[in-house]
Amino acid sequence: MRGGVLRLKKGREARARVHPWLFKGDVAEIGAVEPGEAVTVVDFAGHFVGRGFFNPRPALCCRLATWDDEALDEAFFARRIAAAVARRPDPALARLVWSEADGLPGLVVDRFTDVLVLQSLTLGTAGARATLVAALRRVVGDLPVLLADDATAARLEGFEPARGWVGREGPAAVDVREGPVTFRVRLGGGHKTGHYLDQRENRARVAALAAGRRVLDAFCYTAGFACAALVAGAREAVGIETSAEALAGARENLALNGVADRARLVDANAFDELRRLERERARFDLIVLDPPPFTRGRAAVEAAARGYKEINLRSMRLLPPGGLLATFSCSHHVTEARFEAICREAAGDAGLRLRTLATLGQAADHPVLLTVPETGYLKGLLLERV
Ligand code: SAH
Repeated sequence: MRGGVLRLKKGREARARVHPWLFKGDVAEIGAVEPGEAVTVVDFAGHFVGRGFFNPRPALCCRLATWDDEALDEAFFARRIAAAVARRPDPALARLVWSEADGLPGLVVDRFTDVLVLQSLTLGTAGARATLVAALRRVVGDLPVLLADDATAARLEGFEPARGWVGREGPAAVDVREGPVTFRVRLGGGHKTGHYLDQRENRARVAALAAGRRVLDAFCYTAGFACAALVAGAREAVGIETSAEALAGARENLALNGVADRARLVDANAFDELRRLERERARFDLIVLDPPPFTRGRAAVEAAARGYKEINLRSMRLLPPGGLLATFSCSHHVTEARFEAICREAAGDAGLRLRTLATLGQAADHPVLLTVPETGYLKGLLLERV
């Protein structure tokens, strides 16, 4: 077998043409190739299929980046990044690159106006970091770049997660605007990096319904939904969050938007606090449930489902007739249909009728590929108590 060539088993090329992931079980043979290097993928008969980065460590051993016979070099990355940027409705504040969905598997890039935040999720993109940064700067300009690799992905793929600025230091924080709302995004310095861009459209959507309402923002992080709702005229908002760092960011954002006097932050586990509010017979006319992923794997889906059901059931019980619930799941393995079923069960147990006003998803800067369902993860329902 030639070096740098990966030959697929018979019949495996059909899937490989529409889905970039190759597993060890798909591989007939592979020539000499260093972990993290590019390989040319051919079908069993030796015909070209595509090119991607190889890693012998995980079961998912190769992710195809192209189906054309082209080199995976700086010019290639620049072309892919430019195409991705052109698809963004607001490229100054956006996830500029969303991995497989933008034809750059293993790479995530967020832009917060004057700063780029880059995440490598595979050995291939970690190894190509310098080239990727050069390509990125070629497309969007010479902005400061913060590396913010995810430790879990790094462990699975077998690379040292990089965190910190590339070359010159960037600012400690940047202020970004989502319509009329300002958010302070803290960068580097050991702080949790970022701002959830995937919820941007949903924050605006919920805010548009918030005027005059009492809002509960559970799992509020830096009070994204609460700020948007209050700026849009919500009467008051309560945010629930466990992370001290997130709570500090929430306080800062509420003050920045001049709405702190109408907000209250509760440092508590949302499960406990929802139970307490229910006992207290509290009422909220707009509730947002945006928890972290309750499962990252297929195995724990049942436990995750119980968690989702519990918080939805308790939240529904806090709604008066006409009250709204914007409820989300970002667990990839909990499908849209499953999530809807969980919410239906919760409503059944609560003995409440709810109208589905809308199904919600991730913002347009997190595109989803039809043939790569893994690119979609955020789902939500906007419900109204009848
Ligand atoms: N809606 C937010 C993003 C929420 S991310 C936005 O628009 O920006 C989920 C948040 O839930 C994280 O900040 C995490 O710290 C918090 N969290 C996780 N478990 C929690 C729990 N049991 N109770 C309260 N908050 C929790």
